[in-house]
Amino acid sequence: MVEIPNSAIRSLYQRFDASNETFRARLKRPLTYAEKILFLHFDDPLGQELERGKSSGLFRVDRVAMQDATAQMALLQFMQTGRAQVAVPSTVHCDHLIRAQAGATVDLERAQTEHGEVYRFLADSAAKYGIGFWKPGAGIIHQVVLENYAFPGGMMIGTDSHTPNAGGLGMIAIGVGGADAAEAMAGVAWGVRMPTLLGVHLKGTLSGWTSAKDVILKVADLLTVKGGTGAIVEYFGPGTRCISTTGKATITNMGAEIGATTSLFPCDARMPPYLRATGRVELAELVEEYADRLTADPEVEADPERFFDRVIEIDLDALEPHLVGPHTPDLARPVSRMKKDVAEQGYPDEISTALIGSCTNSSYEDMGRAAHVARQATRAGLRVKTPLLVTPGSESVHRTIRRDGQLEVLTDAGALVLANACGPCIGQWKRDDMKPGTPNSILTSYNRNFRRRNDGSAETMAFIGSPEIVTAMAFAGRLSFDPLHDSLETPDGNEFRFAPPEAADLPAQGLVDSPVGYVAPADDPGKVDIRVDPQSERLQLLAPFLAWDGKDFEDLPVLLKAEGKCTTDHISPAGPWLRYRGHLDRISDNMFIGAINAFSGEEGKSHGRAFHEVAREHKAAGRRWVVFGDDNYGEGSSREHAAMSPRFLGAAAVVTKSFARIHETNLKKQGVLPLTLKDPADFDKVKEDDRVSVTGLTALAPGSEITVVLKHADGSEERVGCAHTLTDQQIEWFRAGSALAWIGSQSV
Ligand code: SF4
Repeated sequence: MVEIPNSAIRSLYQRFDASNETFRARLKRPLTYAEKILFLHFDDPLGQELERGKSSGLFRVDRVAMQDATAQMALLQFMQTGRAQVAVPSTVHCDHLIRAQAGATVDLERAQTEHGEVYRFLADSAAKYGIGFWKPGAGIIHQVVLENYAFPGGMMIGTDSHTPNAGGLGMIAIGVGGADAAEAMAGVAWGVRMPTLLGVHLKGTLSGWTSAKDVILKVADLLTVKGGTGAIVEYFGPGTRCISTTGKATITNMGAEIGATTSLFPCDARMPPYLRATGRVELAELVEEYADRLTADPEVEADPERFFDRVIEIDLDALEPHLVGPHTPDLARPVSRMKKDVAEQGYPDEISTALIGSCTNSSYEDMGRAAHVARQATRAGLRVKTPLLVTPGSESVHRTIRRDGQLEVLTDAGALVLANACGPCIGQWKRDDMKPGTPNSILTSYNRNFRRRNDGSAETMAFIGSPEIVTAMAFAGRLSFDPLHDSLETPDGNEFRFAPPEAADLPAQGLVDSPVGYVAPADDPGKVDIRVDPQSERLQLLAPFLAWDGKDFEDLPVLLKAEGKCTTDHISPAGPWLRYRGHLDRISDNMFIGAINAFSGEEGKSHGRAFHEVAREHKAAGRRWVVFGDDNYGEGSSREHAAMSPRFLGAAAVVTKSFARIHETNLKKQGVLPLTLKDPADFDKVKEDDRVSVTGLTALAPGSEITVVLKHADGSEERVGCAHTLTDQQIEWFRAGSALAWIGSQSV
């Protein structure tokens, strides 16, 4: 079952009243909208602890979505659970692997050749396990989910950090790793620390050039890239109601850039029309019927400080269009100040390429506003001065804007239309116009602008704005051009000024229903074979990690003592390694490639040998090993390979001064013991040729003491006290070898 029937959504909505009453009584106060959804999805509503930022929440999610780069490991792990079919509606979307170079048709053909093996594996796995499969070119995961599957009041997880896009349609949608997805698909409750709540009060109304994009650019400016960490950002106030559903999705999508767990908007009158325009008429009626449940209690808007851990306010009447960047989404300024920043900061003024679309900003409204701007300029005889690349978010939007004329306006102005895929947004952009290493400015309507993100070049400075601002500036070809106030000279010598963009948020005839590229699960899954070539370097079936042998770890070598910052990028970098995400052995060649060896200062090496080589030698000899790490070990992305590769090559324990939370959980999921030094100064006692024993494992229990014994080469010993944060459930994972091995051991 890929679709959730409306009857099931009705049943969910019918449970709201009782759930809300229970938790209002428990908390002795009204509830925010995020709380209502979270509480409705608790695995054990009565036993669940509610302390924000502390308690572990366990949830029953309504659906799972996976993109192709991460779905490989998610599905390989799902296979280990031994389940015949997924327990929750799930989909796979082929969007990340397609390289953008020559335009949609050519790029898609090439992708089939380059990644055919991976696509076949994903398609076969989807067919066999009851998962909906969206082929390459069908669209970008978040846009397709919004158009087909998201619904107010629901809760989903997705193996992509911009999964919160569905928050624009009033859904709690959270980005996770492949193991989390595999667990949820296996029917196990999904766990996350209870988020804190951050309220964003929107007042006033969007108008003229200012768009939803500018709301999130302003939020990033106010909160910075870390400001939303561990929080659900809940929007409220009269300003929410002037923003279209797809505009809301732009805002929640890009909430990932402030580190938020997710972001969401309450249900309002803009959502049912969007559901109707995307062909979900019955669901629209259902949402209208239950609209009063799909929002915060009225007291929240009246007195927000009482309900949220932090509240910020944005006045949409006063909000100007913004541009952010380069290299970080929280370096913001109004468009009107860009000229000054170009002069003062020395940013290359010439825009080398302008790019609009992506999962963040490719709605009918976005393309309509961009086309409105482009039409004004072309009517005045102008063409874009810089290459303008357009990435539609889905085949449905693509066909709709072709039917309604916006696409023609953009191509008439000189735009090149790329495949409905991530392309330049994820670094899959083969540029032929710029020598690597050349400083240059690009302008996008995407969501992320870290160095190297778009074209792999550290010298490319990526600035982000709304699609209409990006399009207008493409006609000037300069960052210093202010579309609101500056003019351009037309070929006949006249002065041309843009008028503010105008466009409908939804097509009068609805979006073109485009099942093109969708493949339903097989009717007879038993007949589907999943083929993985043993010689493949892209895919490898996983063997379960061995269960714990019931004994303390004795006399293990120290593979690595990592000094200073050791992020998931140091442990398991992405970039060229993206290609091997489905092959654990091959990708493990990158293990600790960026870690700094505390004994020698070498990067990624011990005595001149790569860490993975040394680890493979230990593994071949049947020896497990230990890693010591500094503060906040494993910070960065939630990349599960940073835990899987060490486990695969033999890590028994990782002992640190402190962990980044998600990485610590990932280690637990993979059956590696994460320990923290009670006295961080003990880090200095670890010597390169120590043999390490970890004692206390037979009595392992939540909060139990663990002692690490450092046996030095001179025969002396030092005993070091360690703490752990394993719960009863996580101890089961450790004993079974991994979370998935434990799930596989449970009867279905
Ligand atoms: S378009 Fe960009 S942000 Fe969206 S899913 Fe693809 S890579 Fe991620």
